[in-house]
Amino acid sequence: MISSLQSRAAGLLSRFYGYRSFRPGQWDVISAVASGRDAVVIMPTGGGKSICYQIPALLAEEGCAVVVSPLIALMQDQTQGLVANGIPAAALHSNQDENENRRITAAAAEGKIKLLYVSPERLLADMDIFKCIKISLFAIDEAHCISQWGHDFRPVYTELSQLKNVFKGVPVMALTATADRLTRNDIITQLHLEDPYCHLSSFDRPNISLAVYANPGARQRNAFIKDMAAKYPQDSGVVYCLSRKGAEETNAALSALGLRTVCYHAGMTPQARDKSLHAFLTGRTQVVCATVAFGMGIDKSNIRWVIHVNMPGNIESYYQEIGRAGRDGLPAEAVLFYSLQDVILRRNFAQESGQPVINVEKLSRMQEYAEARVCRRRILLSYFSEETTCDCGNCDNCRRPPARFDGTVTAQKVLSAVMRTHASTGIRTIIGILRGYSRFDIKTAGYDRLPTFGVGADLTEEQWLDYITQMVQLGLLEIAYEEGNHLRPTALGMKVLRGQERLTLSVYTGTAEIRRKSKKDDGRKVPSDPVQQLFEQLKSVRADIARTENLPPYIVFSDATLLDMAKQKPTDTESLLRVSGVGEVKAVRYGKRFIREIRRFTGMSATERGASIKETLILFNAGMTAREIASTKNIRESTVYSHFAELIGEGMITAFHRIIAADDFRTISAEFDRDPGNAYERLRESYPPGLISVAKAIRTAVAAKKTGLDRK
Ligand code: ADP
Ligand code: ZN
Repeated sequence: MISSLQSRAAGLLSRFYGYRSFRPGQWDVISAVASGRDAVVIMPTGGGKSICYQIPALLAEEGCAVVVSPLIALMQDQTQGLVANGIPAAALHSNQDENENRRITAAAAEGKIKLLYVSPERLLADMDIFKCIKISLFAIDEAHCISQWGHDFRPVYTELSQLKNVFKGVPVMALTATADRLTRNDIITQLHLEDPYCHLSSFDRPNISLAVYANPGARQRNAFIKDMAAKYPQDSGVVYCLSRKGAEETNAALSALGLRTVCYHAGMTPQARDKSLHAFLTGRTQVVCATVAFGMGIDKSNIRWVIHVNMPGNIESYYQEIGRAGRDGLPAEAVLFYSLQDVILRRNFAQESGQPVINVEKLSRMQEYAEARVCRRRILLSYFSEETTCDCGNCDNCRRPPARFDGTVTAQKVLSAVMRTHASTGIRTIIGILRGYSRFDIKTAGYDRLPTFGVGADLTEEQWLDYITQMVQLGLLEIAYEEGNHLRPTALGMKVLRGQERLTLSVYTGTAEIRRKSKKDDGRKVPSDPVQQLFEQLKSVRADIARTENLPPYIVFSDATLLDMAKQKPTDTESLLRVSGVGEVKAVRYGKRFIREIRRFTGMSATERGASIKETLILFNAGMTAREIASTKNIRESTVYSHFAELIGEGMITAFHRIIAADDFRTISAEFDRDPGNAYERLRESYPPGLISVAKAIRTAVAAKKTGLDRK
């Protein structure tokens, strides 16, 4: 049975956000918190955590929800989004004028703000001020920062343990995208949550396709990235690099290829970083080349791809980083470039870290993912202890199972070169011997006199690198990390060398092949399809609006919303409201421009008749006053009153009391009864003309009803 609370919540979701239903889990969390219970919400990035605290904030009759958030950029992004949807929200932070901060705290104390974002430092420092505000709930975003077990521990978060004690009876909810059990329990303990409602979502993000390419060189990588950017010209992408230097080099190389790209890493000044971030969020730049310093809390919904130039050290980090793609639920791509060089580097990092055993183990799991020849999503999900029973169909291994060949002879050539050099050389030298290079190092060691010298001239360096990589993955060779990363045959390798065991290898797919495939793969069709065509046009309308309003495009509407719009093709305000992601305020504020574009596209006249009056009605039904409607639509208040008068005449508005006080109505009405000819002139001295027209319209409406009744 649907409770009245649930229908109110669904009403808010539809009015303010334009969404038809809650996602799995959202309503349960909302109802728990609305009834005063603490909660822990663990959902993957893009899962919809924000709604879980925003709807309870709106459901609360009075008071304001305080949202603790670790990053200013994140707070600004969230408040911008809320305000664009017509929800009173604000943020307190140090990048803002102190007067502005004071004004906001005062407004919160007066109950004029429903959601207040604040950094943990500020909340703890201004505890006394917060005690004067009626607080409906605390939401602790990125709650894993409280735990030393998590990957992003922030000591200041631990002081949030006071909240339950200082603000007795105020529910506290913790939200994060990090799932491991240790961190989860730590969050509950540290925040002193009382019997919290716990929600743990599936971590699957089926819309993100997964692919790994082994050993591409820098040139091929950059060309690949360029193709990817070209495939999604209107959308953005992230390139993750291991080091600051790597990020800068990639950035420079991509710029040289003509891409609009910026750099982002912790070695830059905060100003330079903010500038990069702003350019990226507003869509002025298409690509960001970054280190892991980039990304927490980035809520840009139209990141279509994330490419890792280097392999991360563990699956948690990797999953979180690729999770930034496709937050709007539309198809997105995650690509990992993998090389044995990276494995060696990461191994050194892990061994020098404080916890070598754990970190080497985590690295091995990451490596298994990169080297897998089976469904990659199953590997990821099983890492997060989620059961999977079938292949995903949306990873490279599912889509094009690698072609195989009998690689025994190929492997024997490698193994014999390794044996003849007494397992004292690395990959580069082995390839040099096989290809028959007369390089200085090879000649001095006398390797050019080996019988294996030049036996592999028929294959390219890339092919040899790929086959040797596969031999390491399959356990024929191992890398002696402790001995200068030399190649060493294993027992299995020896068997293959002696011909006691045969070996199957996957056919090498060159990067030319990779590039061709990446273009053909799940990319968008060339806009010959009308929906796609309209979608692109709607995006440029959005870009115009974003530019004039100085907002990031995704705050105006997400890609998912524009796509739904392109499919539904609404040609008036009512049908526009049926599009997912179009709430009332946005329908009125931005709707006209989109409707005009759609009408033109479908061959109708550009303007919808009576649109402005309909918008007024929508906002009136949403509970707004004449003044609020005027400011939302950016029109005069007198125009709003003339709309009211017309709507009353059509019987569309009957809640007269919300427009005019009963006393005023009686006085005006009496004046018309007394002296109809001069009433208007006389009343204008004490009433705005709009109100007089409204009163007249009400008189007519009431009279019509009466005569209607009389006739019966
Ligand atoms: P998270 O904070 O968990 O990373 P968000 O709260 O930013 O995710 O939500 C991700 C996207 O999903 C946003 O664009 C949001 O508006 C959208 N979304 C959330 N809940 C719903 C819903 N019930 N229906 C449709 N879209 C939703
Ligand atoms: Zn798969």
